[in-house]
This record gives sequence, C-alpha cells and structure tokens, in this order.
Amino acid sequence: MLKVIPIPALRDNYIWCMYDTTTKHCLLVDPGEAKPAIETIEKLQLNPVAILVTHHHWDHSNGVTDLINKYDVEVFACDENKIPGAKIHLKDGDEFLINKLRIKFKAIRVPCHTLDHTAFYTPNLVFTGDTLFTGGCGKFFEGTPTQMFNSLEKLKKLSLETLVYCGHEYTQSNLKFAALVEPKNIDIKNRVAEVDKLRSQQLPTVPASLAIEMKTNPFLRTNIPDVIKSVEDCFNKKFNSEIEVLAALREWKNSI
Ligand SMILES: [Zn+2]
Repeated sequence: MLKVIPIPALRDNYIWCMYDTTTKHCLLVDPGEAKPAIETIEKLQLNPVAILVTHHHWDHSNGVTDLINKYDVEVFACDENKIPGAKIHLKDGDEFLINKLRIKFKAIRVPCHTLDHTAFYTPNLVFTGDTLFTGGCGKFFEGTPTQMFNSLEKLKKLSLETLVYCGHEYTQSNLKFAALVEPKNIDIKNRVAEVDKLRSQQLPTVPASLAIEMKTNPFLRTNIPDVIKSVEDCFNKKFNSEIEVLAALREWKNSI
C-alpha cells in the first residue's frame, strides 16, 4: 500500500513523502531542506528512490544536493538546468514510471509562479507545489495572469476526487481571504471551522479534494457571479474576462 505523509520543513513548507508500506521504497516531493527528510527516512527505515521537484525556488529544492549525495535517487523536474541531479526535461503531458514504487506520474506544466513550475499527477492525487494551494494560489512571480489561468484550468480538469497536495501550510490565511471574497459561501464557512480546528491541534490541513477546492477556492471560481461582483466592487470597475478577475483577485490578496 502506498502512503503519503507530510514532512514539515523550514517555516511552513511541506516535503511530501510517498512510500510503500511493505517494501519501504519512497519518493520525496520538494525537499527544501535535507535534514527533516533524512530524519523521517531513518525513523521509518525508508529507502528513497526518487525526488520530484515542482519548481526551482530554494524552499522546494535546497535539500536535493545533500539527498542525491546520500541516496541513489532519480530526480524529476522540468528545468534540468535549475535542479541538481535532474536528467530529464519534463514537458507537458510526459509520463514517467517510478519502477520500485510501481507508480506512474504525469507531468502537468503549470507555469506562472515560476516558468518551470510543474505539477505531478497520479490517480487520485496531484502535487501542486506553489501553483494551486488549498484555498488559494501562488504569487505570479515569473508569469502572466493568462498563464496562471491556463495552469489552473488544467488542474480543474482533473477528477473531483483528486487530492491536492500543495507545498505550504497556507490554508487558514487563504480561507480568510476566501471568506472576504465570498462572505455568503457556506462551504467556505464550514471549511474555515474545520481548518481552524485542525490548526488549533497543529495538524496539517493539506491535502484537500479538488471537489472542496472548487467550492471554496476563489482562484478556481473566477466564473462565479458572487466572486466577480466582489472583485468588481473592490476595484470599482467592470472586468471583461475570467483572466482579468483572476489578476484582480491576486492583486487584492497581495494588498492585504
Ligand atoms: Zn515558490
């Protein structure tokens, strides 16, 4: 059986560890630092076989060098020049097999937060790094609102049972903003209560299903009249496309 566990790292990052409970083979996603990953590997007596890196930011990739020096692992990323040890340049839709875990992933290219940003999908979960957060989305550091819109549209097409594993524990603050955008949305209210309870016990709020995200994440709801109205009221102007609504939502969240 494959199990996925979070390894808390740095201030609020999650390194995801997927492992086979029988063979103990494991893969790591976004090791921003090596130390907590090695501690978990040793504690659970795991045998790392692969590292997946969603994007080049240091808090997702700084641990890679130490890990490849210590373990015999394959590194998968989109930009082989930015990620140490990555040998394959993943393109959108590329599939790759991790033999020892008997699992196949599909690379979904989701540029905007960074241009090399890639999500990794296998039924029914997706590692989304800093593109799609539970309750929010990443900052548009290297790309355009159009790129982020197209990236989120790709993720929205996955099946609704898909569990979203993102790179940070940001859900609580993301949902505060979601509630500001949609004060009447009962699904957001319920999720806020659920997340507050989890955080009060220091438990992770990630993953969440895409079904929940579609009901509560304003960045996936740029076609919903209440969201459009709220953004238009905030900026006191009309927007002509979902991309404009998305750009304004991001600007609004950046400002608070
Ligand atoms: Zn990032």
